[in-house]
Amino acid sequence: MSGIYIHVPFCREKCTYCNFFSVTTLSRKALWLETLLKEIELRRQFFEVENTVPHPIDTLYFGGGTPSLLLTGELETILRTIKTHFNLSKNVEITLEANPDDVTAEKTDQWSELGINRLSLGLQSFDDEALTYLSRRHSAARALEALETALTSGINNITADLIYGVPGLSADQWRSNIRILTRSKVNHISAYSLTVEQKTTLDFQIRKRGIPAPDDEQAALHYQILTEEATASGFEHYEISNFARPGYRSQHNSAYWSGKPYLGLGPSAHSYNGTQRLWNPSGLQKWIEAMNIDPPQLEAETLTPVQRYNEMLITQLRTSDGISEKMLAQTASPKLIEHFKTEVQQHINQGDIELVGSCYRIPSHKLFTSDAIVINLMYAD
Ligand code: SF4
Repeated sequence: MSGIYIHVPFCREKCTYCNFFSVTTLSRKALWLETLLKEIELRRQFFEVENTVPHPIDTLYFGGGTPSLLLTGELETILRTIKTHFNLSKNVEITLEANPDDVTAEKTDQWSELGINRLSLGLQSFDDEALTYLSRRHSAARALEALETALTSGINNITADLIYGVPGLSADQWRSNIRILTRSKVNHISAYSLTVEQKTTLDFQIRKRGIPAPDDEQAALHYQILTEEATASGFEHYEISNFARPGYRSQHNSAYWSGKPYLGLGPSAHSYNGTQRLWNPSGLQKWIEAMNIDPPQLEAETLTPVQRYNEMLITQLRTSDGISEKMLAQTASPKLIEHFKTEVQQHINQGDIELVGSCYRIPSHKLFTSDAIVINLMYAD
């Protein structure tokens, strides 16, 4: 299984909490597109390993930034170029992240005709005060309208993003937010705790302007409500922040969590080829310059056995599949397996980790504190 991620680094405005790479002017969109097409061609052999036929691409993901800002013709050109240079599988999952402002019946029809079969709606909240705190452009009414439009479109795989732990958002308000989704035909929910990243505007506002900071206890309560509500409505809690109706897990992210190779295109995108991580430059200009060289000279790191082991813990233990004995044997050396088995025992005794068949996994209600568990199991060189 392999996937391609395309980073679309444009937003209408910068949200105060966001630290993803994006710019708020569209003046360089044409140059970005031209460079992206070049990168697609330059890196067409990314998945090829000597003497093997590469597996077809199973997932294609337009993330950002705001991919829904792209014109239909631009998306069409990107898809055509991808198909020219890569072999897409028959059932390829093609996801487009969309801001509520951009979701119209006309647009969703066009996206569907292009073959986009999964829409990720950045709703974030159905509460106007929370949206104002987050400095989102859209209103709660617009979020509802976008949801309705998406659900009645030709795209039947709809996922919605929400943010919890927003100061001032009560437990009841948060429960109502989730219920709007669980009572709708949405088949996937991603919910993230509001975190204050360093050097963001929100960080500045909290430190210098005295606006309220997120509170850990409130976030923990919201997470508890989220897991209760989503699972009671038939959603499977399959990753710390992700909930899916049966059969609707994100194929793209699942492949990423289970260590499958993926190619990241566009400024700031990361790639993994099974042994190495590669980073595209995050500035638009630096990325454009990097793509003027064939092959592009990208920052790369070959993962050591310890890094591979630690990464497996970070990604897999956050999923409901957990880590199987087989995966452990394939990824870790006997020394690291011994370390894992020694350290994991205390967590099993405390109920932080359960051994189900031959899989070690963190129970759903403990996933919120998974970082502390994972850190204990990691190995330091
Ligand atoms: S729209 Fe998304 S990517 Fe753009 S600034 Fe807001 S949170 Fe960041």
